[in-house]
Amino acid sequence: MDSEPKPNLLDLSREQLADLLKAWGQPAFRAKQIHRHLHLNLAARFDEMTDLPKALRERLNAETTIGSLQQAVVHAGDAGMTRKALFKLRDGSPVETVLMVYPDRATVCVSSQSGCPMACVFCATGKLGFLHDLTRGEIVEQVYWAARQLREPQFENRRLTNVVFMGMGEPFNNYTNWRAAVEILHDPEGFNLGARSYTVSTVGLVPGIRKLAEDPLPINLAISLHAPDDETRTAMMPVNKRFPIADLLEAVRDYTEKTNRRVSFEYVLLQEKNDFPEQADRLGQLLRASGIRPAVMHVNLIPWNPVPGTPLGRSHRKRVLAFQEGLLKHAVPCTVRVERGIDIGAACGQLAGTA
Ligand code: SF4
Repeated sequence: MDSEPKPNLLDLSREQLADLLKAWGQPAFRAKQIHRHLHLNLAARFDEMTDLPKALRERLNAETTIGSLQQAVVHAGDAGMTRKALFKLRDGSPVETVLMVYPDRATVCVSSQSGCPMACVFCATGKLGFLHDLTRGEIVEQVYWAARQLREPQFENRRLTNVVFMGMGEPFNNYTNWRAAVEILHDPEGFNLGARSYTVSTVGLVPGIRKLAEDPLPINLAISLHAPDDETRTAMMPVNKRFPIADLLEAVRDYTEKTNRRVSFEYVLLQEKNDFPEQADRLGQLLRASGIRPAVMHVNLIPWNPVPGTPLGRSHRKRVLAFQEGLLKHAVPCTVRVERGIDIGAACGQLAGTA
């Protein structure tokens, strides 16, 4: 039988780390030193913490860990500017993370769960079913993996600029751990990534949207909409039965009114499923009638990326552009997403936990 895993220091808040060190009889400044090593220097091993007494390093090494993910494989695509890591949890469940480096920014797409219970028909992760909620540390560790990649000569020590919670899983199904991870990443005495650098994407869990509206941190919100009517949306996303479009848009409207933050609607385009000109027209009408001000909304059109074993097709370029034009006629701000990582199965909806 498996022995109990050692505590992962990345799972601990600053206060919990201080409590642990206090319980070990250490002076308060040791916790601060360790916090800086973990979250500012991104130390991966205790022997990098050379300003700690040797006995303390040995105890940390014997009784705790830095991180818990096992890195299985890293794939590079887009001439090395996109990297997908496949990690494994202790029981072998997959976790995928994608780093995308652009001339002006570096974004990491992070998983909040292993697998996903939401079963969206167009998504490879949904086919795995739900495996695990990730802990705070498992979420943070993916971001630090990306930040360490950026230290390689190819990237000239660039800084990570954006963290998007759009990998495996539905972040609002794991709200507490997801939000706790942001807390750690945002800590000015640690990783110190600014509040506007985070985007959380949801299938439209209304309670999560309402909770985020109360959050003082201006985290960006992205809604996976994907259809202009309930019938089409329910066929693509079973969650629509629980939170139909009217309820979802009402929650988004309230969110924008309360926070004055911009919301983006993600719309994956599937050939002859949800990409007809009438559907663009309907979507334009729907969004304009929703009460959400055009100044705080944006539609991201995403030509669907192939997932093996599905009968779905990717919208032809002409249909994508026609759809965009249909929305613009309603003065709905809208762009077609620049695609990354298709060749390595790292693009939106492709994360399947396979190498
Ligand atoms: S699209 Fe997102 S919410 Fe839907 S099954 Fe995939 S990972 Fe889950």
